[in-house]
Amino acid sequence: DSGGLDPAGATPMMAQYIEIKSANPDCLLFYRMGDFYELFFGDAEIASRSLGIVLTKRGRHAGTEIPMCGVPVDRADDYLNRLIGLGHRVAVCEQTEDPAEAKKRGPKSVVRREVVRLVTPGTITEDRLLDPASANLLLAVGRRKTAETAFAYGLAAIDISTGRFSLSEVSAGELPGAIARHDPREIVLSEAIHADPGLARLWQETRAAVVPLAQAELEPAAADRRIKEQYGVSTLDGFGSFSRAEIAAAGTALLYIARTQLAARPPLAIPSREEAGATLAIDAATRANLELTRTLSGERTGSLLATIDRTVTANGARLLAEHLAGPLTDLARIGQRQDAVARLVDDSALRQICRDTLAGAPDLPRALSRVGLGRAGPRDLAAIRDGLASAARLGDTLARVPDLPAALAAIGQTLSAVDAGLVEILRASLAEDLPLSRRDGGFVRAGFHPEIDEARLLGQDSRKVVAALQARYAEETGCRTLRIKHNNLLGYFIEVPQSVGEACLKGLQKEFVHRQTMVDAMRFTSVELGELERKISGAADRALALEAQVFDDLAARIVAEAAGITAAAEALASLDVAASHADLAIENDWRRPVVDDSLAFAVGGGRHPVVEAALRRAGEPFIANDCDLSGEGRGRIRLITGPNMGGKSTFLRQNALIVVLAQMGAFVPAREARIGRVDRLFSRVGAADDLARGQSTFMVEMVETAAILNQATRHSLVILDEIGRGTATFDGLSIAWACLEHLHEANACRALFATHFHELTALGDRLARIDNATLKVAEHRGGVVFLHEVVPGIAERSYGLQVARLAGLPATVVTRAGAILKSLEKSQGGRSARARIDDLPLFANLAPPPPEEPPAPAAEDPLGPLLDAIDPDALTPREALEALYRLKRER
Ligand code: ADP
Repeated sequence: DSGGLDPAGATPMMAQYIEIKSANPDCLLFYRMGDFYELFFGDAEIASRSLGIVLTKRGRHAGTEIPMCGVPVDRADDYLNRLIGLGHRVAVCEQTEDPAEAKKRGPKSVVRREVVRLVTPGTITEDRLLDPASANLLLAVGRRKTAETAFAYGLAAIDISTGRFSLSEVSAGELPGAIARHDPREIVLSEAIHADPGLARLWQETRAAVVPLAQAELEPAAADRRIKEQYGVSTLDGFGSFSRAEIAAAGTALLYIARTQLAARPPLAIPSREEAGATLAIDAATRANLELTRTLSGERTGSLLATIDRTVTANGARLLAEHLAGPLTDLARIGQRQDAVARLVDDSALRQICRDTLAGAPDLPRALSRVGLGRAGPRDLAAIRDGLASAARLGDTLARVPDLPAALAAIGQTLSAVDAGLVEILRASLAEDLPLSRRDGGFVRAGFHPEIDEARLLGQDSRKVVAALQARYAEETGCRTLRIKHNNLLGYFIEVPQSVGEACLKGLQKEFVHRQTMVDAMRFTSVELGELERKISGAADRALALEAQVFDDLAARIVAEAAGITAAAEALASLDVAASHADLAIENDWRRPVVDDSLAFAVGGGRHPVVEAALRRAGEPFIANDCDLSGEGRGRIRLITGPNMGGKSTFLRQNALIVVLAQMGAFVPAREARIGRVDRLFSRVGAADDLARGQSTFMVEMVETAAILNQATRHSLVILDEIGRGTATFDGLSIAWACLEHLHEANACRALFATHFHELTALGDRLARIDNATLKVAEHRGGVVFLHEVVPGIAERSYGLQVARLAGLPATVVTRAGAILKSLEKSQGGRSARARIDDLPLFANLAPPPPEEPPAPAAEDPLGPLLDAIDPDALTPREALEALYRLKRER
């Protein structure tokens, strides 16, 4: 931050720097100097640390040296990318006049510079800075009062890189889930919302960069005006009706976009309004736990998304991710998507043609956005040409197929409506090999524009003229080694080596004007050459100017067609997604689920797509399992006990994933499935303390469980895995017990509940809709084999010792543990003591026996083995407390 920098006494350039920097205090300033962007002061220190580039000094300011570091302009994208990845925002400051102009104003004057753009995580458009397969969302949050202290929140989700723009309103309780669903790169909001203590944790924990804006700039009238300006309309009525919170969010987003894009205005789609409840509500914890779009460790590989993504275009991959993040609740829309998939499953030839044609289609939305922002190059125009050409071809293909389901027919119609004239003109005008930047010229096809051809011809002719002139000069001066060359400083000049003869030199000096003497050469110019120079460079400039004009005309035509191009792009993406689902279904034998308005949940032969894929790679089979939670009778809640590693978590999650897949319109990994539409999906896993997070995860677990018990409706699906594990046994058991009762009585939802508290299975007798299930285990010569088969009933044992052996616990420890277990069983007798031992954390309390001592015989004193098993040095405070409780119980 150089806000505190004093311009007094600075050099003129530093004074300019300080002025620009203080106008952009919360950005790193990339200050253009020739071929570098330079950073100074604190910015330089941050950049050098983050980018690993050398920190140097440049001059002094206020008595101390100025830290400086620089990045070369032609590699700036890479550095920008890394800085933005770290959550920084960068102001790019360019030289906005020719240095020669500045010189004219006086020897000391500084080149004029201006910030042309702020580069922030949520507002980038360059392919090199973007992940092709993910949306890059800017999320703006606004709100309106609904009661004295209650608010409704408006969300504006904008992807500048594609023009996508949606608005929705959610309650305060739904806000975290909605933000998790959008998964934005950057969030903008008012200072008031940012400072709301009830939301502070939300802003702290999000992955997005969070940018508060001053309240004064966010007046409702200003929001209204900004939206009208963006779309050039005098009233918003034509777009539908939006709540005040939504308008506030849209206004905030547009303000921020205007601020970061400065002159340019991105072409945004008309905002689409998302009705409340239109998507399956999945809160942030459930999303993370089910590893929908990324794994718990944050990677895409291993997520459901990575497993099901068979799309062949970036555009399709983004839509698939969007569908996965927000499965539908509307049965008609789900059905339409399924129809399209089903048709592509049945018609392999059609599917193959679609996928092959799609595979060659470039990323239309991102190219279109750059064209609209004036940031495009010739290759973006070619992308539009090729994307639209693929669209038209697919439109033809689909038009020839009879009896298409409505969704595919609609896609076909949109694709057929592509403006063929635009494709034609882009074909006719663009050359084969295209430069990256429009400034390089040479991208207009020969024969397209007569004046450009003429100017180019002149350039080529001039080359011939130069060659002729060189021959003539050589002839006239008798100097065979004379050459005509060109550089930027002198333009065209005559060069002879120093070794040229005395006679020649005389002749040269008489004819030409001497300009430079080099170590081994002499350079001259002539009036004739000067004229030629003007003509040639004039022709080149003229050709460039004409090409620029052609570019602007093409860009304008494209922008005028933006709505049609966007529609085509959306149709291509939908087709890609449907074909992706079909491809996956065929390859893995996934089936079309029935999704209806009932409370049914009947999955026959269900599998976990990610675990199954992993096992397949290892050459192992996945055991399919049924799950029926249908109806009012027994079994709406299934309580699952079974040993660790038996497959409980896998079973639970696979059923949640099947709901997500079914409601996003995909086929599902099951032989058959009937699912009564789910309104909210909840999934929680109990865990041990994670001190690194500063907050006990038991606390988090309880907060999240509270959310479920408060929010789950009859139409929800709840998955609870080992709830209550993070506290002392009796606490945990009581909590799990009470939760289960509440789910049964109050929520009355469909639920799967896995637990290691075997005592809970007694509830099956008392509560009508609870059924017990367990995972089958085969004992084999003292070891166990997990069959991963879900069967009715109750787990006999936990097989903790067997699992410990499988995990590689030293044999002496396992033997010792066996002895302890026996003695405990004997001293207590009956099931409850055994169950309790089974519930001991696997490793924490088992100290290795002293090596010289043989396993202790069963002690008379019941406390003996317990005490032996405690290693005070190895216990956490909580474990110590638990151990104390246990000892007290045994007394
Ligand atoms: P638990 O939750 O009971 O401890 P998990 O669900 O984590 O068990 O499963 C443990 C391991 O068993 C998994 O990583 C997987 O490799 C394997 N597994 C689970 N379910 C199945 C299945 N249905 N078929 C084949 N292997 C399975």
